[in-house]
Amino acid sequence: CETPYEKFLRQHHNNPKSSVGKQYCDVMMKRRGLDKPACKEVNTFIHGTKNNIIAVCTASGGKDYGNRLRVALRPFTVTTCRLKGGSTRPPCKYSDNKSSRYIVIACNRNGKPVHFDESI
Ligand code: UDP
Ligand code: UDP
Repeated sequence: CETPYEKFLRQHHNNPKSSVGKQYCDVMMKRRGLDKPACKEVNTFIHGTKNNIIAVCTASGGKDYGNRLRVALRPFTVTTCRLKGGSTRPPCKYSDNKSSRYIVIACNRNGKPVHFDESI
């Protein structure tokens, strides 16, 4: 079965950004299973290497941010997908926003990311 780290990668890691056409979020949210059982409202994909994301869990790439969270020392290119309209019933339609941001994540005791909190 899927570990919390594997779930994090499925939900939040896409590097390099997949060329899936104009509607990146619509395609990727479905491809990663985030349209079931209902459309996930907000989801961020990080276009960075696994090593650079894991480093946010260490002193070389991140620092404490309170509430057991870590904030990156350097920005990542991310795409944040936001559900359009009021309904969470599939098919899910998303707006895409690509930007450079400092990710805020939670790491497990093995130093692997397990939760995406926000990007600032
Ligand atoms: N999330 C994300 N990017 C963001 C904010 C939220 O991917 O910028 C995802 C993340 O997986 C998080 C989930 O949305 O765990 C729920 O976020 P939050 O707890 O803020 O929303 P709520 O649970 O209050 O609806
Ligand atoms: N988690 C955490 N802090 C939080 C929320 C979640 O450490 O504030 C952990 C929680 O133990 C869970 C894991 O993050 O096993 C993944 O949470 P989820 O599947 O909701 O993924 P997310 O949407 O948070 O990225």
